[in-house]
Amino acid sequence: MTAKIIDGKAISAQIRAELVDEVKKLQAETGVTPGLAVVLVGEDPASKVYVGQKEKACEELGLVSKKFVLSVDTSEQELLDLVAKLNNDPEVDGILVQLPLPKQIDENKVIAAIDPDKDVDGFHPVNVGRLVIGTEGFKPCTPYGVIHLLKRSNVQLAGAEAVVVGRSNIVGKPVALMLIQESATVTVCHSKTKDLGEVCRRADVLVVATGRPNMVTADMVKDGVVVIDVGVNRLETGKLCGDVDFEAVSQKASAITPVPGGVGPMTIAMLMYNTVNSARRRAGVPALA
Ligand code: NDP
Repeated sequence: MTAKIIDGKAISAQIRAELVDEVKKLQAETGVTPGLAVVLVGEDPASKVYVGQKEKACEELGLVSKKFVLSVDTSEQELLDLVAKLNNDPEVDGILVQLPLPKQIDENKVIAAIDPDKDVDGFHPVNVGRLVIGTEGFKPCTPYGVIHLLKRSNVQLAGAEAVVVGRSNIVGKPVALMLIQESATVTVCHSKTKDLGEVCRRADVLVVATGRPNMVTADMVKDGVVVIDVGVNRLETGKLCGDVDFEAVSQKASAITPVPGGVGPMTIAMLMYNTVNSARRRAGVPALA
């Protein structure tokens, strides 16, 4: 079997195109234009690139974007004051504080200070709690992107054996919770899992987020598995690769995401999706499904 490629670039482009229409409709019906505030503290080059990508996506979708660039020596209180101001700004539907933050600032304190109803990154403990309980709230963008990739590729999740490798707060745990919500039977693996291959071979749907290049090999998967590779690793050659041995596993899988071009492009699309939904809720319009 040669796997179908789950094309994250194409699916994220489709989501963004749908959002362009939704933003126009929302403006026509309510006069509201969704707004995202992005806060960057310091000069981290990768963070600057991510913030630039987020601004560009807002522009493309017709969203208002407000960018705040603070110096690397900003105090925790100054950042908390800005967050409080944005919480009260009616033009701001979503607040994103780009992580990581400089060491004098407690990230958890800043995340907890964001109004949970503007927390489009989905990292506030209230939104984590909503995800656990299964009530409406913001879902973190990368794992939400994984679920959208699966659903838009018509992968049956209800009743499926889903195995998640990785249990981080930003990928593994939330993706596992979302798969439970989709009625999959979910197993979560991590570095202490005894026989990873044996557990992975049970999977109808395998989501891998470890940051270990090519660690899932063909002998660890069953024929016909659907594989979502969240990993992004840069090899010494400069080439990017995922956590799954793509060449070998795609000979057995029925569908697989490439790296790059799989999960990666979904993250910003889901940030835009969350921001549009925030504006909808705040305008009294039901969120997009
Ligand atoms: P973390 O380092 O926070 O977590 C890695 C997880 O993998 C841990 O739970 C760890 O287990 C587990 N793990 C590590 N080694 C093994 C092993 N040998 N066997 C089984 N489990 C193992 O990483 P993140 O979740 O933040 O990120 C994972 C990957 O996803 C990275 O490559 C990252 O770059 C990528 N990523 C991509 C994004 C995107 O495309 N937009 C966004 C976010 C992340 P334990 O808990 O026991 O230590």
